[in-house]
Amino acid sequence: MVDCKNYVNGQFLAGSGALREVRSPQTGKVIGQFHESSAADIEVAVSFAKKAATRWNKTPIKERASLLLNLRSILLRDIDLIAKQISAESGKIHAEAKAGLMKGIEVLEFATALQNADAGGRLQVSRGVFCEYRREALGVVAGITPFNFPAMVPMWMIPIALAVGNAFVWKPSDKTPLTSNLLAKAIEEAGFPAGVFTVLQGGRESVEAIIDHPTIAAVGFVGSSPIAKTVYARGTALGKRVLALGGAKNPIILMPDADLEMASRGIADSFTGCAGQRCMAASVLLAVGNVDSHIQGIVEKARTIKTGADMGALISRESLNRLNQAIEQAVQEGAKLLLDGRNPKVSDEQKEGYWLGPTILDGVKANSTAACDELFGPIIAIVRCQNLSEALNFEAASHYGNACSVFTQNGAIAERVANESTAGMIGVNIGVPVPREPFSFGGTKSSKYGTGDITGETGVEFWSQLKKVTIKWAESSDKNWMS
Ligand code: NAD
Repeated sequence: MVDCKNYVNGQFLAGSGALREVRSPQTGKVIGQFHESSAADIEVAVSFAKKAATRWNKTPIKERASLLLNLRSILLRDIDLIAKQISAESGKIHAEAKAGLMKGIEVLEFATALQNADAGGRLQVSRGVFCEYRREALGVVAGITPFNFPAMVPMWMIPIALAVGNAFVWKPSDKTPLTSNLLAKAIEEAGFPAGVFTVLQGGRESVEAIIDHPTIAAVGFVGSSPIAKTVYARGTALGKRVLALGGAKNPIILMPDADLEMASRGIADSFTGCAGQRCMAASVLLAVGNVDSHIQGIVEKARTIKTGADMGALISRESLNRLNQAIEQAVQEGAKLLLDGRNPKVSDEQKEGYWLGPTILDGVKANSTAACDELFGPIIAIVRCQNLSEALNFEAASHYGNACSVFTQNGAIAERVANESTAGMIGVNIGVPVPREPFSFGGTKSSKYGTGDITGETGVEFWSQLKKVTIKWAESSDKNWMS
């Protein structure tokens, strides 16, 4: 049983709001508790963060980066311990929890590289006159993160925001808050000064108080589209920078010439990995022409995945009930169940957990819920398309735009999909086309509200600002309009 706390000015303290419990998705048992943060808790935390931000921004970037390097060593040392906690509260299997943390560490490595890469620029713009860029922090910034990657998604934001000199306030998901205390301990051990990193637990009210706090200069958000939209609207109405990543309904276009083994494995892994609870999971298969042998291959691969051992649990009973209903609705609308994951076999210890096995629905109508809405579970809806144009039209009509992949051996088809797809991240023979650093992460349409991406160079731009300094030290005899 984890007694999860806020982390404020270098101290682990309980919030003064309502007490909430955290259940293991794998067993249904209570594994932790936390108190929500009240407006007063947030006020105190942000005032410490503000003091720390001033000193931190003046610390040379090489010193800031050296603390991030300490953090990297600690995270790698403790990776199994942290992955165990991630797995326990999010339901995913240990290997997936570890892989998510490794991806977060990759962003940290990118952030430490800024000490060598981000030297700004200086130029003599006129005789005796120099212009230079100075990158500055914004002050106190905040990140609000979803349940499905309790360490990775926050680590898209934390290392970059800290490297450029901000104090960072993190509000973890109220469904998976426990990992935040392990990350805070690691940050403390790495030697970050008190107040530079803050954790505030809570739900909607805490989020709103953080966004509204006048000291918070920028808000990074990752979660579902409706909430991303409201967070973006609320923050930008106050004149703040907001980048809010939302949900997804990612299509994979399957062409008849696709490599059978590569496509079957890539597609089965994409919709079942993390039990389909990742914003880059494929959830609709646009089957172009006759791809029946490939579909058979996907069904065979998915059938061998053992729920509870190879694939993790859904986050909650509500989620399980919603997905069971969505499967029933698709079947009533005429879809054929090629694989039915309902009521899978699990161990006795897992009986009260929230389990759904891999589920494949064929002949799904293009305008149906199963084809268009984010279900967030290990379900793939197959929509039959006569040709590539039909598949691309379906993709373009979606209001989501996170990812789109194509499986083909034809370079011209792959290029056409990369050019015409409206999503932000495209895969060719890759089921989960997450860009690796330094390539940035971000979608389009209602999968992202705001400009730029959350990682990579635009992430650096989001969490900082450029000051332009124009300098003259001596009178020049050789005058022009500027000198
Ligand atoms: P969510 O939108 O329910 O919650 C996200 C965060 O917002 C959490 O910290 C939560 O406590 C807070 N929150 C909840 N209700 C709120 C409200 N009414 N007002 C303000 N804040 C609120 O998302 P989730 O269920 O935790 O995560 C799953 C969703 O996140 C999926 O839609 C998934 O696609 C999306 N996601 C997107 C990305 C991406 O990169 N685009 C990455 C991971 C997850």
